[in-house]
Amino acid sequence: MSYCVNCGVELDKTCSVCPLCNTGVHNPKQPVDREAPAPFPAKRGYAGPVQRTDVTLLISIVLAVTGCVCGLLNLFVFQKSHWSLYVIGGCVLLWVFCLPVFFHGMSPYVSILLDGAGIAMCFGIIAWLHPGNGWYLRLAFPLSVLTTVLVLLFAIWVRQFHGSVLSCSALALGEVAVFTMAVELLVDLMQKDPPGITWSAIVLTCCVIIDAALITIIRRTRLREEVRRRMHI
Ligand SMILES: [Zn+2]
Repeated sequence: MSYCVNCGVELDKTCSVCPLCNTGVHNPKQPVDREAPAPFPAKRGYAGPVQRTDVTLLISIVLAVTGCVCGLLNLFVFQKSHWSLYVIGGCVLLWVFCLPVFFHGMSPYVSILLDGAGIAMCFGIIAWLHPGNGWYLRLAFPLSVLTTVLVLLFAIWVRQFHGSVLSCSALALGEVAVFTMAVELLVDLMQKDPPGITWSAIVLTCCVIIDAALITIIRRTRLREEVRRRMHI
C-alpha cells in the first residue's frame, strides 16, 4: 500500500502520480503496477455545462404548454369565464421577463421596454375582463408607461454614466417620489376629484430630505470617502 508523500492520501497500486496533488509516487517496496486496470475511468463521466438553447427550449415549452392546456380547458371544460386569459397572459409575461436569459447579447433597454409592454398587456387583459370605471386607460396604462420610463432612466444612469451606489440611491429615491405623486394625481383624475398632492407629499418630503443628504455626501469628497469606507461600497 502506498501513500502520497505530500497529501497523505492512500494510493492505488496503479497510480504513478497522486490523483489529488499530482505528486509522483516512489515506493521501492511496491513499484507502480502498470499492467492492472486503473480503479477509475480515464474519461470523466459528468455532463457538460447546460447550454443556453436548452434552457430557452425548456422554459418556452413549459410556458407554451401551460398556456395551451389552460386555453383548451377553458374552451371545452371549465367554460364559465375567460379565466385562461390570466394564465396565458402570465405565461407570456414570464417568457418576456426571461428574454435576457434566452438572448445573452440582448440590449437591457430593449428588455426593459418589452417588460413594460408585457406588464401593460397583462393589465389590458384584466381590464378587458373587468372594464370597471376605465381604470386601465386612466391609471394602469399611464403607470405602466411611467414605471418603464423610470426604470429605463435608472438603467441608463447605471450603464451609460456608471453611476455610483450613492448616486443610484439618490436617483432611485427621486423616482419613488415622482411615481408616488403620479399615482396620487392619476387616482384623483380617475375619480374626477380636483388633482392635488396630499399623502404623496409625505413621501416626497422624506425623499427630498434623504436626497439632499446623499447629494451633499456625493459632492463632499471627504464625506463621500468616509461613507464608502464605513459601508464598504
Ligand atoms: Zn497527494
